[in-house]
Amino acid sequence: MRADGPVWYPFTSMLHAPEPLHVVSGKGALLHTADGRSIIDAISSWWTNIHGHAHPYLQQKLHEQYGQLEHVIFAGFTHTPALRIASRLTEWCGPGFTKLFFSDNGSTAVEVALKMTLQYHSNTGSKRHRIVAFEHSYHGDTFGSMSVSARDAFTAAFHDKLFDVTFVSPPLPGQELKCLQQLTQAFEQQDVAAIIFEPLIMGAGGMLMYTPEALDAVISLAHQHQVLCIADEVMTGFYRTGKALAIHHLEHQPDIICLSKGITGGSMALGATVCTEAIFNAFYTEDKLKALYHGHSYTANPLACALANASLDLCLQPGFQASIDRIADKHHQFAAKLTSYGTGSEAVLTNLRQCGTVLAFDIKAAEKTGYFNSMRDRLYQYFIDRDILLRPLGNTLYIMPPYCISDTMLEMIYSGILSLCQELKTEASKT
Ligand SMILES: *Cc1c(COP(=O)(O)O)cnc(C)c1O
Repeated sequence: MRADGPVWYPFTSMLHAPEPLHVVSGKGALLHTADGRSIIDAISSWWTNIHGHAHPYLQQKLHEQYGQLEHVIFAGFTHTPALRIASRLTEWCGPGFTKLFFSDNGSTAVEVALKMTLQYHSNTGSKRHRIVAFEHSYHGDTFGSMSVSARDAFTAAFHDKLFDVTFVSPPLPGQELKCLQQLTQAFEQQDVAAIIFEPLIMGAGGMLMYTPEALDAVISLAHQHQVLCIADEVMTGFYRTGKALAIHHLEHQPDIICLSKGITGGSMALGATVCTEAIFNAFYTEDKLKALYHGHSYTANPLACALANASLDLCLQPGFQASIDRIADKHHQFAAKLTSYGTGSEAVLTNLRQCGTVLAFDIKAAEKTGYFNSMRDRLYQYFIDRDILLRPLGNTLYIMPPYCISDTMLEMIYSGILSLCQELKTEASKT
């Protein structure tokens, strides 16, 4: 009998799942377990954490808010934490973003964005109803967000229930023209309502990266064809790419931005869909049937909104951007050390890539030996045994730390990776 009894874990094949590590507390980039281990959270607890665990300022703000108001219906009623974070975040997103719709997580932020674009066209009497998305994309696990995500093994059981989407090649380096050609073909049908994309880094699809120039070309082409653009910044948002948002690297701006994960600093579930005045105006009419009929019981939960405000306070403090740049620089220097493992006939890694605070590469040995799955598990175990939480996507290893992580801890992660590379190299030379 397992100690975790009735709990059914996410993304886990339960039969042979090892007993999970029992975390009793966290501090900064560290997770402390019941059996006395301290583990470096090198993936920010599924890409959510930005200021570190159990941050005293977030704790204080949560405590204060609970003493005032923990929750209230968000229709016909409103409250200061929601008003405040909505006006601060829309401004933070950039010029043109004027409205924010609250929901509960990344998947619901995407659902709301899809509904906004589809209903925008229906409200304005256009016949556009088709969504375009990139191959290898991931936008969430609800049915709408699954529909716009890559059709892969994880969604296979539901494929006949997912709505029809046009998938095109993402504009990865070397594939930019192919992407634009496929988009042109799709847009010429004149039925496309919107395109959804993960800007600059495609996370769950394998930390695939592409350039701002490539995305600028996509957005510009979409806008020439009256196609709305949804930037799913659920993972890339809140400084992962080096700037506040990935779209801040661009000349052309999307019409809708989906935010979640880092929005509360990684402390509570909250989703937000930010849009332009033009989108909002299509719903701002005498016709009641043209309203956006979507909402959740915990919409704009005051505790979550207070934490989002507190997290944003920390992001706007002097020195915060410097901590982002520091991590990006450290990664860059480490990448230079890794290149020797990625060249020549003895190469053990490939596709070394970096965008801001995210560093990724693929383990080549996995392709050679063909034991893809056991390699993933082996990599995970290798680092956990060294008290480092890295959670590879197949044979893709990546680092995505909380920004409070010290240089010393970064060095510990790097040296773990170097010894792995050395081990793989030794193995390869024996076979
Ligand atoms: C994680 C993620 C989602 C889904 O967010 P949840 O909060 O897990 O529902 C959506 N889009 C992207 C790009 C993500 O990385």
